[in-house]
Amino acid sequence: MTTHLFRPIPGSQPEGLRIGILGGGQLGQMLGTAARSLGLRVIVLDPDPDCPAAVTAHAVVPGRLDDPAAVRRLAAQCDVLTLETEHVPVAVLEAAEAIVPVRPGSSVLRLVADRLAQKRFLATHKFPQPAFAWAHDSESLLAAVERVGTPCVLKNRTGGYDGRGQARVRLPEDALAAWHGTGAQPCIVERFVAFEREVSVLIACALDGTRAFWPIAENDHLGSVLHTTVVPAGLTPAQAEAARTLGGAVAGALRHVGVLALELFVERDGSLLINEIAPRVHNSGHFTWGASPTSQFEQHLRCVAGLPLGPTQPTVPVAMLNLLGDLWHDGQPPPLPAWAADVDVHLYGKRDARPGRKMGHILVRAATATDALDRARRLHAECVGLQRPTAPGPDP
Ligand code: AMP
Repeated sequence: MTTHLFRPIPGSQPEGLRIGILGGGQLGQMLGTAARSLGLRVIVLDPDPDCPAAVTAHAVVPGRLDDPAAVRRLAAQCDVLTLETEHVPVAVLEAAEAIVPVRPGSSVLRLVADRLAQKRFLATHKFPQPAFAWAHDSESLLAAVERVGTPCVLKNRTGGYDGRGQARVRLPEDALAAWHGTGAQPCIVERFVAFEREVSVLIACALDGTRAFWPIAENDHLGSVLHTTVVPAGLTPAQAEAARTLGGAVAGALRHVGVLALELFVERDGSLLINEIAPRVHNSGHFTWGASPTSQFEQHLRCVAGLPLGPTQPTVPVAMLNLLGDLWHDGQPPPLPAWAADVDVHLYGKRDARPGRKMGHILVRAATATDALDRARRLHAECVGLQRPTAPGPDP
């Protein structure tokens, strides 16, 4: 039987190792919490000194992620750098690599940060993905749409997330308007996949080459933003094994170090297509903090710091519900109904609750995945109901 080294790590814990994180959002915040329990120090680079990660980091270096001088300032204070977003210019990572190890490094970002580069990488390795073409002006756009066919999806090559910089095209004559609606940027055009389900494979890739998987997660989006994740996914054992094998092969081809999420479409005939690679901790992996012995955040830090991986099994049936700013009222999160007293609530402490902004998430555990997802959906429906302003009453 394999023995996993788990907290505390006998004799090998690099107490006080300084880990720099590019980006100070909620992912950086949760990495900071995990770092503290491992005895590591986190220093975050973010333009906002009051960013969500500021509450868990040991220090914040104020600065933009695309500013080489700011990234060098961070690197000079750290033993190793990592990132919570792939929206970091490759050249900036290269500048940092001249100072400290960066995990994952610029070689990984070069292959995945630009959607076209990512698609070419997948094509080179013959990994399955939806048919695609690319465009940079109106003429090449029309040619790309004709080549891929409709319906299709336009996606900006860089900078997009949570459906931003994306548009569906139902008919060829809608293509130009859709492209202008996404900023008329260089883009890829992808076949629209009428998938049966969306799943993600979450893998931790240690510095010594060992890997750990969590159970495959099944995702549901609302308006292109992740709404719920449920674990385990409704896959057959053979599909789950195929997804893990594909994830391992992608991680290996990238020579990735750290956590990596592979978003997959499962087609009606059961075949798998890669939608996207995220070379970092991922929203669909939030269930690991509360339903698995080692969270994705702890595991990522273990990879980056060169520590042995923690155990990832068993993981109890669990559903994660994202809490978006739409649910906030007068700056306050929705009150939870009494029946939901046993759920885990994570709030990121963001002050400005804009619609669509990720403000927190909830974990619901249950005896089965179906029950967990049902409870998460019911909770969301009740929060939506509670948030909706009632008829105005007298001023208090
Ligand atoms: P992405 O940012 O590429 O992960 O896209 C966000 C969401 O949009 C995905 O999780 C899907 O639900 C949907 N989506 C993206 N690309 C496609 C596609 N080619 N076909 C169908 N749905 C898609």
